[in-house]
Amino acid sequence: MSEAPSGTDTSSGTAARSGAGPSARTRDMSRIERVLLKKAGQAIQDYEMISAGDRIMVCISGGKDSYGLLSVLQLLQRRSPVAFELLAVNIDQGWPGYDTGAIAAHLRASGTPFLMVDRDFASVVTANLEPGATPCSLCSRLRRGVLYNLAVELSCNKIALGHHADDIIETLVMNLLYSGTLAAMPAKLHADDGRNTVIRPLAYVPEAVLADYSAAQRFPVVRCGCPSCGLPEQKRQVVKRLLSSLEQSDPGVKHHMLAAVRNVKPSQLLDRTLQSLVAHVPGREP
Ligand code: SF4
Repeated sequence: MSEAPSGTDTSSGTAARSGAGPSARTRDMSRIERVLLKKAGQAIQDYEMISAGDRIMVCISGGKDSYGLLSVLQLLQRRSPVAFELLAVNIDQGWPGYDTGAIAAHLRASGTPFLMVDRDFASVVTANLEPGATPCSLCSRLRRGVLYNLAVELSCNKIALGHHADDIIETLVMNLLYSGTLAAMPAKLHADDGRNTVIRPLAYVPEAVLADYSAAQRFPVVRCGCPSCGLPEQKRQVVKRLLSSLEQSDPGVKHHMLAAVRNVKPSQLLDRTLQSLVAHVPGREP
């Protein structure tokens, strides 16, 4: 996805579906939590996302993914021999009906320091929107600018976002189909402004695991309230449906797509810049 919060409630998790009793729910929760921790831990290790002394700004939209992100980072913080700090930050973008009260209550109960920030993106986006255009690109740019500045002001050297494996492969397909670019989302990015490092600890976690975790934890998922969020005609929703139907007819497709993003053969593409670069890297595949 763009840098958008995943504000949709997909409370269709295993525990919720099963109507299981407390002990079955606890077992379910432990199983989901183990998967979540394993996959997030692996991504953090593979991309060296967290180092001793980091102060990480955790972006909380009120969607299931951002709550899952905070939860997994808290669990890792307790278990890891590496000491790092967390600061949860929520931005109210000014869309009507956005329930910041529920988010603040959850963050207060979580025990992690947090900050609630107000910004009126809704008016700016509405005033500048071309007829027929979607607001997401401008909205994402505004949000990214605010987050990057906040991280510096709050002395955070990393910004953690809740994008997951499905977001990454959906972005890959969207770029392929609609942008003429072969690109997805990096697990770790040193921003162009040289001031910020963005990390995506959930890069290996399937969305379904986060949905199950959210349902089991009963996270207070809120919608962002913007007019575009989750609209069926949005390109992301179209791609989501396409991938979901492919996965149903051929289970494992999404897994292979994520593996492909980690196993690029530059010489098998038609990018001339990339080919000349590969030619100068000894030992790189021909
Ligand atoms: S307009 Fe809505 S869906 Fe689009 S990026 Fe902004 S908050 Fe997300």
